[in-house]
Amino acid sequence: MRSISIFGATGSIGESTFDLIRRSGGAEAYRTVALTGARNVRRLAEMARELRAEVAVTAHEAELPGLREALVGSGVEAAAGAAAIAEAADRPADWVMSGIVGAAGLVPGMRALRHGGMLALANKESLVTAGQLLLATAQAHGATILPVDSEHSAVFQALTGEDGGAVERVIITASGGPFREWPLERLAAATVAEAKAHPNWSMGNRISIDSASMFNKALELIETREFFGFDPAMIEVLVHPQSIVHALVGFRDGGIMAHLGPADMRHAIGFALHWPERGHLPVERLDLARLGSLTFEAPDDRRFPALRLAREVMALRGLSGAAFNAAKEIALDHFMAGEIGFLDMAAVVEDTLDAVSAETALTMPAASLEEVLAMDHLARIRAAEQARKRIEGR
Ligand code: NDP
Ligand code: MG
Repeated sequence: MRSISIFGATGSIGESTFDLIRRSGGAEAYRTVALTGARNVRRLAEMARELRAEVAVTAHEAELPGLREALVGSGVEAAAGAAAIAEAADRPADWVMSGIVGAAGLVPGMRALRHGGMLALANKESLVTAGQLLLATAQAHGATILPVDSEHSAVFQALTGEDGGAVERVIITASGGPFREWPLERLAAATVAEAKAHPNWSMGNRISIDSASMFNKALELIETREFFGFDPAMIEVLVHPQSIVHALVGFRDGGIMAHLGPADMRHAIGFALHWPERGHLPVERLDLARLGSLTFEAPDDRRFPALRLAREVMALRGLSGAAFNAAKEIALDHFMAGEIGFLDMAAVVEDTLDAVSAETALTMPAASLEEVLAMDHLARIRAAEQARKRIEGR
């Protein structure tokens, strides 16, 4: 029986993963090792009972009594805290979903790779903050990383059977988010509720807002560079409001392979779950005649400066991805708290990169996970200072 673990089980990616596991036989077909969550311990316990998990872990110590109570009589162990999540990743499983949001997903993913199984990677922050370390760890332990971000799964699929050397360009698409047509002046006053309303995808709140600001696409540019190793100049972003084409790979003969699918993460998750085979998946089948037309437009770096910042990070590499992601997470916290404006997020990230690079060399390749975490920590402090300046200046 194949063993699985889901990190971030209670999130949007986690729920979709759970749905696919349940539809393909649940506890009868898979042995579940660990399920993790954070605040939503009732749901975590429900999932752990159904899949008969060995252990359920919440990220927050304060939630442990609630988790224990919800698991009484189930035989599922309960644990709490970041260290307990990392320990859960030390329990071997054949297939692990990395679906925690933010830099908190890095350590468990890294630890899971040490068993040499498959890591289905939704947590793009892992690649952005520590791409080279992550790939080196996978290689050292004979583990396989399968991209779950829809664009990266699409690139992976378009590359299957192809010679990587014949690739000329890689294009990842972006819906453009809810503010695709908004003028700059209006963007400054955008609210959290407006930013959360993604036109096509149903996702967690944080990634939805990152989609509106294009920070999600910025992370994905860096993710493409780190995961596939293509030169930054070969990687493009194309705005495609219908979110049907997820990525395109262009070859030196001028041909392009495009990946199309419905905006349902169960496609990319299911692809990773059944890889190298193709399983039957419960996603909607596209009716292209009914869709009629697919449209494309160039992204606007002026209204969405996150893309320009990502280009800088792709050129710098080293520890700059860790600084960029940490600054973005802090800026997002302050925007979600209503303390800074929508456009202030990019300004905070840019100022943080400047402040951090004045103190330490961002281009230095990370020699260890500790160095990445130290950069993450420093950038969070500097970003909080930059955000404070903006709050006081309002
Ligand atoms: P959600 O916010 O929906 O879920 C996040 C999960 O992580 C939840 O299980 C949450 O627990 C848990 N969590 C939150 N904070 C912590 C923490 N500090 N430590 C450990 N666990 C924590 O996020 P998504 O599912 O939307 O995204 C997950 C990852 O997948 C992100 O990296 C995102 O960029 C990526 N991704 C998501 C896509 C999507 O469609 N949603 C598409 C492509 C990539 P709880 O809910 O119990 O508090
Ligand atoms: Mg994506």
